[in-house]
Amino acid sequence: AAKGAGKRQWRRFHPVLQAGMIERHELQASLDSAVAESSFQVLYQPIVEIASGALEGFEALVRWPHHTRGLVPPEQFITLAEESGQIVPLGAWVLGHAAAEASRWQQTASECLDGHDGLDGGAGPRKQLYVSVNVSARQFRDPGFVDVVRQTLDGHSMEPSSLILELTESVLMRRDERVRTDMMTLSDLGVRLAIDDFGTGYSSLSYLREFPITILKIDKSFIDGLGKSSQQYALVEGITRIAETLGVRVIAEGIESARQRDLLAVMGCPLGQGYLFARPMGADQAESLIRASKDLTVRPSAGGAETPP
Ligand code: C2E
Ligand code: MG
Ligand code: MG
Ligand code: MG
Repeated sequence: AAKGAGKRQWRRFHPVLQAGMIERHELQASLDSAVAESSFQVLYQPIVEIASGALEGFEALVRWPHHTRGLVPPEQFITLAEESGQIVPLGAWVLGHAAAEASRWQQTASECLDGHDGLDGGAGPRKQLYVSVNVSARQFRDPGFVDVVRQTLDGHSMEPSSLILELTESVLMRRDERVRTDMMTLSDLGVRLAIDDFGTGYSSLSYLREFPITILKIDKSFIDGLGKSSQQYALVEGITRIAETLGVRVIAEGIESARQRDLLAVMGCPLGQGYLFARPMGADQAESLIRASKDLTVRPSAGGAETPP
């Protein structure tokens, strides 16, 4: 009977498996040409100071406009690109775009804010908007990565402190000596390093001791639970307290409601991003946002669709 069930299962799943493989193969092939032609887009989502709504910077989020599939979200191709190694050129491309945009914002912000005091903790006389770029494990482990970052900074005369690199725990888990050395090199350059999606997987606060990380992004799943149980609240508050005590800035991800924002403000979580403030937007809209908000304040505006360039 067991054998029969196994056979039936095979028969039932085999065509699906095959369809999946064909689909995968197709995607991989068109991803190849997309990488070769750099036919991606980068959207930018504001990161704000929770208490005031003041704009701090943007996270760069890649999109793949596909001729038959529409805008393919990163979940559907980043893993594929990681497996094939295509993430290395793709990631370098995203980094270059993000740096170019950040240089434009710097220009715009300094035009708009002439004489305005920086909120960045005295790093400069004017507020430095930063761009935060996701880096996959495979990309970070590539031996050329640090050079790519260096060249990108040089090529855009970019202040290293206005670049944040978001790493996931998969980079940190292995306790690889080269990973640590590369992180030290980047941090010595002045680039800031963040842990992304903190709280998922095996994220450990000891990473904050072991690595030169100065920003911690608390995963959306924790923010979702904020208003629902006092335990969830206590957890986020505890993580925030410990991180901030260690001099690590906390960014809450995926804030969708005013209630979540208020709870975060009460517990003293400094920074956040989410649909409540703004969705990811095209570079031009990011530029207009910087221009329009003279005081660089993003007014809560829930709803509305993502706005591609
Ligand atoms: P992530 O780095 O954690 O980025 C945050 C994700 O949450 C983004 O999804 C963003 O659009 C979404 N988000 C932001 N606020 C809200 C909210 O209030 N509600 C909800 N439901 N979602 C919100 P996105 O753009 O689809 O990106 C998904 C993931 O793909 C990213 O998660 C990141 O891990 C990866 N990714 C995106 N761009 C790149 C890239 O250039 N390189 C690499 N290696 N990975 C990338
Ligand atoms: Mg991220
Ligand atoms: Mg995240
Ligand atoms: Mg994520």
